[in-house]
Amino acid sequence: MDESPLLNVADVVIGSYVNGPGKRIVIWVQGCTIRCKGCFNPTLQPHVIKNLVNPGTFAAEIVKLCQDTNCEGITLTGGEPFQQSNALGLFLKVIKGNNLSVVCFSGYTSDKLLNSTNLNVKSLLKNMDILIAGPFQKDINYPNRTWFDDPDKIVVFLTDVYNNDDTFSHNNVEYIIEGEDVHFSGFVDEIDSKIKIVFQK
Ligand code: SF4
Repeated sequence: MDESPLLNVADVVIGSYVNGPGKRIVIWVQGCTIRCKGCFNPTLQPHVIKNLVNPGTFAAEIVKLCQDTNCEGITLTGGEPFQQSNALGLFLKVIKGNNLSVVCFSGYTSDKLLNSTNLNVKSLLKNMDILIAGPFQKDINYPNRTWFDDPDKIVVFLTDVYNNDDTFSHNNVEYIIEGEDVHFSGFVDEIDSKIKIVFQK
């Protein structure tokens, strides 16, 4: 019997350029109890079942997708990835085993994560290249924020795969069209929010 924990995934987007260096596959996990002031993704807070996947099988699919679409790695976001650390640990072992890079957003502070004695948290960090950590605070008015330039977040390079030279990009938001679906990603400002409503209609 397979007793591996399952990973609860809300969404996946292929070919994002605003969630870390280069072209990436972005995975949104479902569920977060942090409750940041002005949460960026409130629909991803409830720990309700969205898509329960086997971490190993899902990782193999993501590796193939990365290879087929020339994505250099994945970005984990949510929801809160560290609240599924057991399943994500299994997932990331396969991802890193295939030499793909890993970026992770978290609402926990970098101090809390980097000083954690929890073995699952340590194992996750060991398989990440960039940690972007800190709670989101909507009352900080900071236009044009990007994944590497956000006053709410601290960017930690955990390996030498990337460094500050990889933090160039002028884009902070993107719309990816897949069939009839339009995915919005990045830092959606007031104008982007209006465009988003039009697309959703
Ligand atoms: S960590 Fe993300 S999903 Fe969780 S409350 Fe903060 S902004 Fe929302």
